[in-house]
Amino acid sequence: ERSKLNRLKDTPATTLDGEDVKMLANIEGPKDLNQVKAVNADGVGLYRTEFLFIGRDSLPDEDEQYEAYRTVLKSLAGKPVTIRTFDVGADKALNGVSARFEPNPALGLRAIRYSLAEPQMFLTQLRALLRASVHGKLRIMIPMLAHAHEIDQSLQLIAKAKAELDAEGLKYDPRVEIGGMIEVPAAALALGMFIRRLSFLSIGTNDLIQYTLAIDRSDEAVVHLYDPLHPAVLKLIAGTIQAGARFGLPVSVCGEMAGDPAYTLLLLGMGLRNFSMHPGHILEIKQQVLRADLNELAPRVQRILKMDEQAKVRDAVMRLAG
Ligand code: PEP
Ligand code: MG
Repeated sequence: ERSKLNRLKDTPATTLDGEDVKMLANIEGPKDLNQVKAVNADGVGLYRTEFLFIGRDSLPDEDEQYEAYRTVLKSLAGKPVTIRTFDVGADKALNGVSARFEPNPALGLRAIRYSLAEPQMFLTQLRALLRASVHGKLRIMIPMLAHAHEIDQSLQLIAKAKAELDAEGLKYDPRVEIGGMIEVPAAALALGMFIRRLSFLSIGTNDLIQYTLAIDRSDEAVVHLYDPLHPAVLKLIAGTIQAGARFGLPVSVCGEMAGDPAYTLLLLGMGLRNFSMHPGHILEIKQQVLRADLNELAPRVQRILKMDEQAKVRDAVMRLAG
């Protein structure tokens, strides 16, 4: 079965009715590049940069970050590389950096909130990213946005990083696109303010499910309630994909749902054309894409989105494959 899948490595992910789908990889750093190459991914859809310093005592400095980002950009040789700014806090605590007690870490100072609270750390990362941008096709992605002012402050810091580099005579690609993650329900319900400010969106279903259903994604005691097919979750995902299509903004899914073959046809039927996942899942998901007929799927998925009983949704999603 593996060797059969391996033959799909160089096959473009095109549906039966001729729609192109992008198969992107989630990575934690340069160590994952061999796996990305092995499946010939269309690019990196999510580089989780916090893995640069999880488990160590100090933050990597600008040059160390620059080296890591450059290595990834060079290796992808012009394919898009979406690098997410630090998503620290909650289940990705910084050793020795944050000793603050938080009653609810998932609702606390994490991701963009943390970066904006530590502007010097954020600026250092933005400078390293921009400097690396001359080595490939970089897109910068900001995690866990909920407020317009978080986007505006981030864009201001990016402008500041560029001004500093200009003043120092250091090069960067001025066309680097800035995008945001949709992983807080408030963001999925107020998409206009994201669409007006950003160049692309990526749906983080892991957190979107956690926050929509109020289920701690790391708590075994409630894991049975963590349901990607809850009608409320599906409405938020589909609404984001549709809004992106309406306003011409690329949308991807980079949470675990994108790498689970049980959901591929559902996401395709919602209109998703960019899937980002652990590279180990790419060929299996591509196989699903190659078998999909969107003309047939889209109306069936529209009917699923009108259902408000989980059991019915589950049955209907299973039947998509039949
Ligand atoms: C997500 O929330 O779906 C996501 C991709 O981000 P992370 O899993 O790193 O929080
Ligand atoms: Mg997330």
